[in-house]
Amino acid sequence: MKMVFTSQDSLLINHMKNLLDNDRIACFLKNQFLTSGAGEIPPVEVWPELWIEEDADYDAAVKTIATTPKAGSSWRCLQCGEWSEGQFSQCWNCSTDRPEQKE
Ligand SMILES: [Zn+2]
Repeated sequence: MKMVFTSQDSLLINHMKNLLDNDRIACFLKNQFLTSGAGEIPPVEVWPELWIEEDADYDAAVKTIATTPKAGSSWRCLQCGEWSEGQFSQCWNCSTDRPEQKE
């Protein structure tokens, strides 16, 4: 077993898991729920981790992840040219919808 990806963004890591599932790469998540405690801040920040079952799948898994546009990255508004953070689906400036991400 090997860890192939980690992120503090649980939506992003679930997205990556779905991609590996689509590639028929056996994988699972660790630490997924540790940071969602009710008001309790863990003493050490623990990020969710994406692991694969078979080491032989490592290269394919890393390639899939590396070639995926990161859902958490910033994007540029086509209407006004302002940059918005990846978690927003509309421009902060003019409320234009986020453009489709290119593969
Ligand atoms: Zn805009």
